Amino acid sequence: MNVIRLARRFLLLALLACTLPLAAQYNPTWTRPFPPFRIAGNLYYVGSEDLASYLIATPQGLILINSSLEVSVPLIQKSVESLGFHFTDIKILLISHAHNDHCAGSARIVQLSGAKYYVMDGDVPVVESGGKADFQYGAEKIMRYPPTHVDRVLHDRDTVQLGDTVLTAHLTPGHTRGTTTWTLDEKEGGRVLHVVIVGSPNVNDGYKLVNNNAYPQIAADYKRGFAVLKRLPCDIFLGAHGSYFGLTEKYARWTAGDRDAFIDPNGYREYVIDREQAFKAELERQLVKRK
Ligand SMILES: [Zn+2]
Repeated sequence: MNVIRLARRFLLLALLACTLPLAAQYNPTWTRPFPPFRIAGNLYYVGSEDLASYLIATPQGLILINSSLEVSVPLIQKSVESLGFHFTDIKILLISHAHNDHCAGSARIVQLSGAKYYVMDGDVPVVESGGKADFQYGAEKIMRYPPTHVDRVLHDRDTVQLGDTVLTAHLTPGHTRGTTTWTLDEKEGGRVLHVVIVGSPNVNDGYKLVNNNAYPQIAADYKRGFAVLKRLPCDIFLGAHGSYFGLTEKYARWTAGDRDAFIDPNGYREYVIDREQAFKAELERQLVKRK
C-alpha cells in the first residue's frame, strides 16, 4: 500500500469515527463497574460508573430501573447479587427512556429474571421494534438492540406498586417520545425523602427541534417536560446517567461517611434550569438558522 493510499485509509477511518452516533461510541465510564450501595430506604444503586441502574427491594420482590447496554447485564446482575438479592426476584423492569444505553439489556434481563416490562406509551413502539421506530436513530443499525415485548403500557402519572413501594411515572418527553422521570418516597433516619430519577432533558447532537417531520411536536414536548421537572419536589436527585447528578463525587462523600451526600435539592433545581437554558439556546439557534 503506498503512502497516499495509507493516508486515504486513515482519513476514511477518522471520518467514520466522527460520524458514528455519540451513543455508539461507548464511553469507557458506561461499562466501568461501580460499587453497588444503598442510597436510602429500600433504594440501591446497581449501575456502572455512568449508566445508572436502580434496584428497589420490597418484601414482594424487586424492581429494576434501566437495563442499560446488552454488555451491562452481567455487571448489573453481579451488583444485585453482591447486595444479597436474587436476580430472579426482579418482578418489574422499568426504563428511563428508549435509547440503547438504558434499554438494550431488557430482553436479556426479562429472559434471566422473568420480570414484567413496563414502558411509557410513547416509547413502546421503539423498544418493541428494537430501536427501529426511534425518530432519530431508527435507521442506524448500530443503535439497535433485541426487540422486547412490553407487558404493561404506562401513561403519564401512572403508578407502579410492589409491596408497599409506589413509584410514579412522569412523562417528560422530547429526548424520546416516552422519556420517563420516576419519583418515589423513601424513609431514612425518621425523614421522608422525595426521590427524583430524571429521565433525560438533553438535546442530543443532530436533534431537529424545528420542522422535525419524524417528531413534529418535539420542541413543545421538551417544554412540557421542563414544566414537569420544575414542579417535582426533590430531596434525592438521581438520573439516567451518573453524570447528571455527580454520582462519583457524591459517592466519594458517601463512602467518607456523609450519608446525606445524595440529598441535593439545590443541585436538582440548578440542573433542570441549566438543561432548560441549553434547550432554549439550541431552539433559538435552529430558529435563527431557518430565517
Ligand atoms: Zn438518551
